[in-house]
Amino acid sequence: PSLEYEFTRRRIQTNIGEIWNFFSSELGKVRKAVAAGHGNADLEESINQVLLQGAEHKRSLLSDMERLRQSDGYESWRHKEARDLSDLVQRRLHHLQNPSDCQNARKLVCKLNKGCGYGCQLHHVVYCFIVAYATERTLILKSRGWRYHKGGWEEVFQPVSNSCHDAGTANTYNWPGKPNTQVLVLPIIDSLMPRPPYLPLAVPEDLAPRLKRLHGDPIVWWVGQFLKYLLRPQTTTRDFLVSGMRNLGWERPIVGVHVRRTDKVGTEAACHSVEEYMTHVEDYYRTLEVNGSSVARRIFLASDDAQVIDEARRKYPQYQIIGDPEVARMASVSTRYTDTALNGIILDIHLLSMSDHLVCTFSSQVCRVAYEIMQTLYPDAAHRFKSLDDIYYYGGQNAHNRRVVIAHKPRTHEDLQLRVGDLVSVAGNHWDGNSKGKNTRTNQVGLFPSFKVEEKVDAAKLPLYPGV
Ligand code: GDP
Repeated sequence: PSLEYEFTRRRIQTNIGEIWNFFSSELGKVRKAVAAGHGNADLEESINQVLLQGAEHKRSLLSDMERLRQSDGYESWRHKEARDLSDLVQRRLHHLQNPSDCQNARKLVCKLNKGCGYGCQLHHVVYCFIVAYATERTLILKSRGWRYHKGGWEEVFQPVSNSCHDAGTANTYNWPGKPNTQVLVLPIIDSLMPRPPYLPLAVPEDLAPRLKRLHGDPIVWWVGQFLKYLLRPQTTTRDFLVSGMRNLGWERPIVGVHVRRTDKVGTEAACHSVEEYMTHVEDYYRTLEVNGSSVARRIFLASDDAQVIDEARRKYPQYQIIGDPEVARMASVSTRYTDTALNGIILDIHLLSMSDHLVCTFSSQVCRVAYEIMQTLYPDAAHRFKSLDDIYYYGGQNAHNRRVVIAHKPRTHEDLQLRVGDLVSVAGNHWDGNSKGKNTRTNQVGLFPSFKVEEKVDAAKLPLYPGV
C-alpha cells in the first residue's frame, strides 16, 4: 500500500473517535444545562436518545474500519513488514551487545537502580539502550542490589549480552565524555546535558519511511523493540509467567484494565472511578458485537489497590474479571520492592500487553510499558488503547510536535489560531475533540480541534549497522 493510503486509513480511524468525543461531550454539556435549568424531561430524553444512537453509529464505523483493514489485501504485507523490521532491529541489538573484542569495545554504563518504580526503571534502561545504539556502544547494565531483586537483572531476564558484561576500568568518563572515551557513564535522562537529538520521540532515519507506513505511532514501536530485547525471560521467569496465566484462567478476547491508585493519586494523577474504566470496556465489547454477534465480557484487571478488584467484581457480576487481589496487595508502597511484588508486576504488565485492548491512565509508566510491549505483538497496535488522562509520552522526551493540516480560527479566547503548516507542540488531549498545545510559530498556548493536526514523526540520523 502507499504511505498515503495507510496514513489516511489510520487518520479516519482516529478521527472517528475524535468526532464522537466532540459530539458526546458537547451534547453532555447541553443535557446538563437542560437538567440544571428548568428540567425539561422530554428534551433530556431526546438528547439521551441521540447520544445512544450516535454511539452505535460510531461503533459501526470503527467496526467497518477494522473490516477494511482486514480485507483491503494488505494485511499479509503488514504482518511481513512488521516481522522484517523487528528482525532487523533485534539483529542489530544482538550485534551491538556481542562485540567480537569485548575488552576493547566501546561501552556505555547504565545503572538500573533509578529511584523509582519498575516501569520507570525499564524506561530508564530503554533510554540507556537507545543512547548505546546511537553511539555504537555496548550497553553494560549495572544491576547488583536492584531494589526489586538484590541478585540483579540477570537472575530474572536474560543478560543484555552473552559475552560482554564488564565495563573494565580503562578510560572511564561521565557523559558526554570525549571522542576517544572507551567507557562512558550515563546519568538519568533528567540530568542529561547536552541532550542528543536521537532521544525519544525520534526514530532512526533509515527506518523512518518504513515505520511511518507500517505504524500509527512509530516511537512506541521503536521503544517496544528495546523492551522486546531486554525482557527475554530467564527460564524461571518464563515458567512463572506460564503458570501465572494458567492459574488466572487467562483467555481472549480480553480487555486489559490498569487502575493506578495509592501513592500516585493526588500527587501525579487524578483518581478515576471503576465505572469510568468500565464504560470504555463496555464500549469496546459493543463495537465487537455491532453486527449482532455476542461476545463474553472479560477483563484482566491489574491494580496497586486490591480493593479495586473486589469493587469491580461486586459491581460487574456480568463480567469475568481475571486478576489477583493478592498481587495488588503486594504492589502497595510498603511491600513493592520485593521479589514477590516483582513477580506480580512482571506478570501484570505481561498480561496487560497481551490483551486485545488497554483501558488505563497513560500517566502511569506501568500502562505505557504494557502498551509499548503490545506493539511487538501486532503489526500496529497504536489504536488499541483508551487512556483516561495523558496521551502517550516518554519521560524526558524532546518536544512532541504535530503539524497543522487544516487552518483554525479561534472560537473563543482559549483557542489557538492555526495556519496550515504550523507546528504545534502538544501537551495533551482533552478527549472532547480538543487538544491543548503551543503554536511554535506564535508561541500562543491554547486549545484546538484535534483533527486539524497530524503527527510529525521525528527522524534522527543514527548508525546504519551495515554489517548486520
Ligand atoms: P507509575 O508510578 O505508575 O508511573 O509506574 P512505576 O512502574 O514507575 O511505579 C509504580 C510501581 O507500583 C510499579 O512498578 C509496581 O511496583 C507498582 N504497581 C503499580 N501498579 C501496579 C499493578 O497494577 N500491578 C502490580 N503488580 N504492581 C503495580
